[in-house]
Amino acid sequence: MEFEAVIGLEVHVQLNTATKIFCGCKNAFGASANTQTCPVCQGHPGVLPVLNREVLSKAMTAALAINATIAPETRFDRKHYFYPDLPKAYQISQFDMPLCSKGVVHITVPRDDGTQYEKDIGVTRIHMEEDAGKLVHDEHGEPVSYVDLNRAGTPLIEIVSEPELKSPEEAYQYLTELKKIMQYIDVSDCNMEEGSLRCDANVSIRPKGDTRLGTKAEIKNMNSFRHVRMAIEHEIKRQIKAVENGEQIVQETRLYDANQNTTRSMRSKEEAHDYRYFPCPDLSPQRITAEMIAAARAKLPELPNAKAARMRDAYGLSGQDIAVLIETRALAEYYEAAVAAYPKQPKKIANWIMVEVNAHLNDKGIPITAFTTVPPKHIGMLFKLIDDGVISGKIAKDVFADMITSGDEPSAVIERKGLKQVSDTGAIEDAVKKVIADNAAVVAEFKAGKEKSFGFLVGQVMKATKGQGNPKVVNDILRKMLG
Ligand code: ADP
Ligand code: MG
Ligand code: ZN
Repeated sequence: MEFEAVIGLEVHVQLNTATKIFCGCKNAFGASANTQTCPVCQGHPGVLPVLNREVLSKAMTAALAINATIAPETRFDRKHYFYPDLPKAYQISQFDMPLCSKGVVHITVPRDDGTQYEKDIGVTRIHMEEDAGKLVHDEHGEPVSYVDLNRAGTPLIEIVSEPELKSPEEAYQYLTELKKIMQYIDVSDCNMEEGSLRCDANVSIRPKGDTRLGTKAEIKNMNSFRHVRMAIEHEIKRQIKAVENGEQIVQETRLYDANQNTTRSMRSKEEAHDYRYFPCPDLSPQRITAEMIAAARAKLPELPNAKAARMRDAYGLSGQDIAVLIETRALAEYYEAAVAAYPKQPKKIANWIMVEVNAHLNDKGIPITAFTTVPPKHIGMLFKLIDDGVISGKIAKDVFADMITSGDEPSAVIERKGLKQVSDTGAIEDAVKKVIADNAAVVAEFKAGKEKSFGFLVGQVMKATKGQGNPKVVNDILRKMLG
């Protein structure tokens, strides 16, 4: 029997608000344990949560970015469970009146044969909730666990997909696209290592062609998109094997182990009624007005897909180039600012940014936003200087290396280092004469018909002019003098 996989993802995104969701404590990663806490986020009895307006605003922007419908009224509920990182013994979340429903994420999925296909993945809902604290295990090798409540009360949105993903690759592309959108709209940095984006994967299988859903397992504990893909791959295989062995799939939560690339059962899955959800009496329901939605919509920047389409038309770039350039909003903006400074070479500037600039960023391990010594307009200036024949493309690399360290404009670097291309025929003629005199054997070969020798002689002249000879002038003079 042939099986197909069904996958639904639950993605938690930490919102990058200045303060927490229900108190004024700072919302920042990396501070010493328990330094960003107060009675509210420590879960003392008798304190009152107050909703941070910025959380609602960012959550609405996220909803609009995936074309979701925002509810006219939304409410917080208490979700009860016990865990040492949750002192209140309930999480303030949303249950049956989530902020929004029915969104869509458009993905492009590569096939093994190099082609690709497009697909819309439905988003069931987005709701707001608070994060829990964090347990620190085995610090200094001691057999104890500590509780750090800095993370408690960090605002989260949970984005729940429809069970419409059919392969580990589709899940991977969905996550990549979702992350890109959340970064573009600046609601989160989506840094999976720091936990600002977390993903649980629900996986089931069913006989191919069947329309009913099979029993799912929920996989947790993946800390990169690659691991999500591997965990799903493994889980599908595990379930198929189990069914083929005549076993029943049980609904459960499984933990992914990246070292062994396996999943193991953690607990049988709890049902909604286990959590004893009820409306949080401390927070009144939120009415969402048209004005509030309009204000959130006004914060939407151009989104990745729209940007890709516009840039393709405006600059005549390939889909592959566009994909690299729009990977982050900052990189796309850098590119467009460089082209705005010199509109004649959109393709060459794209290549320069993808190759030279990216190589430098990778080398230094910095994002484009930290690349401050070369503002985009300097890249535009560099290409104007190449087109004007002031420097060659080869010298441009040296100029660029200097621009990175000095922060100077390219023309200043060229001036300071004396890198101006030599087009002066007299100087080049002298160099050509000398090269012909010094390389009698090669000249003879060329005259006997060996065209390759010409290239060697050009190289020698370029060397003699320290790479600054205008290649076209060098070529012309050399041909003329060789007769
Ligand atoms: P639960 O109540 O167990 O949390 P939900 O209905 O809220 O289940 O769905 C949680 C996630 O699991 C969603 O992303 C949904 O698309 C996905 N999901 C639901 N049923 C299945 C299934 N049979 N196979 C795979 N994914 C599923
Ligand atoms: Mg659920
Ligand atoms: Zn607090």
